[in-house]
Amino acid sequence: MKKILLCVVLSVALFNSYAQITAGKTDTAWKKLYRVSHPAVNDLVHTKLVVNFNFDKARLNGKAWVTLQPHFYQTDSLTLDAKGMDIKTVAIVKGAATVPLAFTYDSLQLNITLDKTYKGGEKYTVYIEYTAKPDEITSTGSAAITEAKGLYFINPTGEDKNKPTQIWTQGETEANSVWMPTIDKPNQKTTQEIYMTVPAKYVTLSNGLLKSQVKNTDGSRTDYWKMDLPHAPYLFFMGVGDFAIVKDKYKTKEVNYYVEKKYESVARKIFGNTPEMMTFFSSKLGIDFPWAKYAQMVGRDYVSGAMENTTATLHQESAYQNARQLTDGNAWEETIAHELFHQWFGDLVTAESWSNLTVNESFANYSEYLWLEYKQGKDAADGHHYQDMQGYLLQPGNDKKNLVRFTYADKEDMFDGVSYNKGGRILNMLRNYVGDDAFFKSLNNYLTANKFKTGEADQLRLAFEEVTGQDLNWFWNQWYFGSGHPKLKIDYTYNDAAGIVKVFVEQTQKTDKVFRLPVFIDIYTGAAKKRNKVWIENKIDSFTFSYATRPDLINVDGDKMLLAEKTDNKTTENFIHQLKYAPNYLDRREALEYCSKKGLKELKLGLTDKFEGLRRFTIERLSRSKMADDAAVIAGIEDIANNDSDKKTKAAAIKYVAKLGDKKYLPLFTKFVGDSSYSVAGASLEGLEKLDSTKAYELAKKYSADAKGALGDVVNKTLVAYGKEADFEFIASRFNDSPLSQEKIAETNDFCNFLAKLTDSNKVKKGIDIVISFKNAIPAQYHDFTDPPIKQGLNKIANAKGEEIKAYISSQL
Ligand SMILES: [Zn+2]
Repeated sequence: MKKILLCVVLSVALFNSYAQITAGKTDTAWKKLYRVSHPAVNDLVHTKLVVNFNFDKARLNGKAWVTLQPHFYQTDSLTLDAKGMDIKTVAIVKGAATVPLAFTYDSLQLNITLDKTYKGGEKYTVYIEYTAKPDEITSTGSAAITEAKGLYFINPTGEDKNKPTQIWTQGETEANSVWMPTIDKPNQKTTQEIYMTVPAKYVTLSNGLLKSQVKNTDGSRTDYWKMDLPHAPYLFFMGVGDFAIVKDKYKTKEVNYYVEKKYESVARKIFGNTPEMMTFFSSKLGIDFPWAKYAQMVGRDYVSGAMENTTATLHQESAYQNARQLTDGNAWEETIAHELFHQWFGDLVTAESWSNLTVNESFANYSEYLWLEYKQGKDAADGHHYQDMQGYLLQPGNDKKNLVRFTYADKEDMFDGVSYNKGGRILNMLRNYVGDDAFFKSLNNYLTANKFKTGEADQLRLAFEEVTGQDLNWFWNQWYFGSGHPKLKIDYTYNDAAGIVKVFVEQTQKTDKVFRLPVFIDIYTGAAKKRNKVWIENKIDSFTFSYATRPDLINVDGDKMLLAEKTDNKTTENFIHQLKYAPNYLDRREALEYCSKKGLKELKLGLTDKFEGLRRFTIERLSRSKMADDAAVIAGIEDIANNDSDKKTKAAAIKYVAKLGDKKYLPLFTKFVGDSSYSVAGASLEGLEKLDSTKAYELAKKYSADAKGALGDVVNKTLVAYGKEADFEFIASRFNDSPLSQEKIAETNDFCNFLAKLTDSNKVKKGIDIVISFKNAIPAQYHDFTDPPIKQGLNKIANAKGEEIKAYISSQL
């Protein structure tokens, strides 16, 4: 699963500290509770479902044939998860007949008394007739899954004319038992068949292959989906809706993209790298894509970022990007790789328990690195990975959590920056330590040994030990079963007379834990580099190297792969040498950061860096430096504005010169305001707005029908700033129609500023209604963070318009 929260930027830090405070205050008993793996009494073998949907009531009518067998010990009873259902029949299947069984049901679990005692491995099938009522479920979800209804009806009665009718499911962690009776635990695996009856106008998607479609006399159609290979219940999926199915292929297997029809023409641009990813991952792992097909669907109002249901991944609407957005790069590329890699790590071998979630999520996280490294180069991968590491480092409390955690308040808490981001960084260190060949052979070993079963961190260790012949307990104890990360202070003393340099590395983290870190220390003389492998393993280590002429740079962690915070007391000359000669993204980034902090002219060398991410980083740092107006700097920026082939970098440069407000850039802005990239067009419109606001306002109106991303922001600001009373309908409906997003919260302020300018109080009130209905549409768990800025906007209107409007706002809130 990939988490994408509505208000990531706004609320992550706040939300986490808030959650910790409230969790800490209310109940800490969980800290003493060891989370056992679910004991296997009965094991799932096969699940056959026959379902249809009651759209009016948002319910599912189901019949389930669940085949099981006692795991080892004999038993005469069976417990199934079945959340919030109406249970009509529970019976045992005897040939063609069924015999009713006694059961009790507490709305969460069915406790069934079997017809006899079954021996270990002796198969039996229970038959259950039920109604699932997901909208009547009250169990809470998590940050990753904002609700846990399992089965979601989107606009089921078609009341909302602007939204299609869809059904989709979200199982992880244990929510599929809302719509099917099962043992809803990750250490269960079952093959599956689903017969879904739907109105004939809709298409369906489920796990495995579509075996048949039968038209019924009542205008409905029954689709039969079959999955021959076993997988965990949380990976079951159903999707229903009016989708275009865009067909692709990997070898002989179907690779399909289910998108709303208006995205049909662009689906291949969004998802079209999937077959190449399948080839790449299959070859890296030495295990061909293991399932019968691979499909991806984009669902409306999806409650998480994306989910790796076996052969049937579901993405949230952010996956939808039009052709112009894609010219800035596919913002969903990493997520597509992430969910695909889960088909091996998660679906083929499944985390044995939620405590071990990292054997799913660290690999999915790391697959983003692998794909970027292959497709866009090592700098792009390192840049992405560095941001992920910041995501771990910046979240308070992450350094206190073990990667594998047998205690947690809620299983949903496992979906965090430790299981994902830190886990991915640890895999990168492991790869660096054992080497590429051993790393991928070990992954092959782990997948082969545990396929169609479950895995824990220890099984991963055994797989690596078998391949490398080394005892790796130290690595696992340190990184998987321990918490925190090293904080390193690095100092150098040179003795030119003796021709000796000492490198001191001190671990300054405020815990007793001392990390063992195998790293390279690279010693540079000019462009030549001598590599030394060392172990950092004490509170303070010192390493001595001799030299004929004093080195230009001593580069600790030469591959820049450590998960660590560093204070590296190199000289200015060292850093400048690092910028020019050290090869890695992070080498150059650290050096540029140093130049930025010290106000060094060498910062502008970053404008010609080979990696666009560092060119952008440099532009951003220069814009707030003392050198911002230097002629040489501006010449470099102008060159990028005119010629850079990377659109986001070009846009950053145009934005830079836009701030200068110089009339000489009018032709540049005019030339690029119609660019296919929203970023480039947006930056150009911003430039025009400063020089010719009338023209900018005209263009903003012209472009408003097709303005997303940066262009959307500038169009919105321009319309609101220069819009007149007569533009109310246009501006108000634009705001009203824009989807729920982080950006919209910022736009609310602009919209309120516009309303405060109007004289017609009916229009003002109508605008207030729109703002308040937006406020109410935001899911409740975000209100602590979204209410204050929205109320601030409303207050501005109240203050500008006086008592009548003030009273109106109070009455509506
Ligand atoms: Zn994931």
